[in-house]
Amino acid sequence: MSTLSEEKADITLRGVRKSFGAVDVIHGLDLAIKGGEFVVFVGPSGCGKSTLLRMIAGLEDVTDGDILIAGRDVTDLDPSKRGIAMVFQSYALYPHMSVRQNLAFGLEIARTPQAEIERQVEAAAEILKIGPLLDRRPGQLSGGQRQRVAIGRAIVRKPLAFLFDEPLSNLDAELRVSMRIEIARLHRELGNTMIYVTHDQTEAMTLADRIVVLRDGRIEQVGTPREVYEDPNNLFVAGFIGSPR
Ligand code: ADP
Ligand code: MG
Repeated sequence: MSTLSEEKADITLRGVRKSFGAVDVIHGLDLAIKGGEFVVFVGPSGCGKSTLLRMIAGLEDVTDGDILIAGRDVTDLDPSKRGIAMVFQSYALYPHMSVRQNLAFGLEIARTPQAEIERQVEAAAEILKIGPLLDRRPGQLSGGQRQRVAIGRAIVRKPLAFLFDEPLSNLDAELRVSMRIEIARLHRELGNTMIYVTHDQTEAMTLADRIVVLRDGRIEQVGTPREVYEDPNNLFVAGFIGSPR
């Protein structure tokens, strides 16, 4: 898959804080993510997972602190210049366009040469196994196929890193399991840094190299799934993800 990005970007958060008006939602987080790592942010609804991800993507201003991607301070940089791609839980595909056009659209906007667009679309279709679907429209796809196209739109941009915000939460239980396996395979094959947000403990345990457990905008624990499960820092982590003892 040599056309796709092989770079692995470190992502560093230094004292990252976020407030909406007078309300503090992220309280000064420090975190160092290694290039190629699969890191899962997990925590209950409202703890700040999406806000944190959106700040890394540049979709939300940082109130205080710095964000570095591949050694570069991107805190004030436009989202399109950060070299990252975000996959959302709502697929937001263009219904009037074919799958092929959906995949190509972002590259066309960026004035990528046509031959390069075709190469990237073919490469993404191959890795996601959606080649036979390229001429369909989103309305003719299943939920899982649509989510694959949404991931494909991220892949074609050859990002340094992928950010996923609860990408499987709209799918039924069976599909969630198979897409989870797909995403793990994607990480093995692409090797990019991935940050994945979920409130689903099973997703966190099965996908993560390291889990970051969040509560009310603070990090409660960072560790491998095994460390967090077997040696939770506190009752909150134990209750949320740890082994029942
Ligand atoms: P999560 O993704 O973990 O469910 P969010 O990051 O969406 O949590 O939200 C964290 C907190 O920030 C919540 O209390 C939410 O209500 C608040 N929040 C998120 N976005 C905004 C906004 N644009 N304006 C005001 N408050 C917000
Ligand atoms: Mg969220």
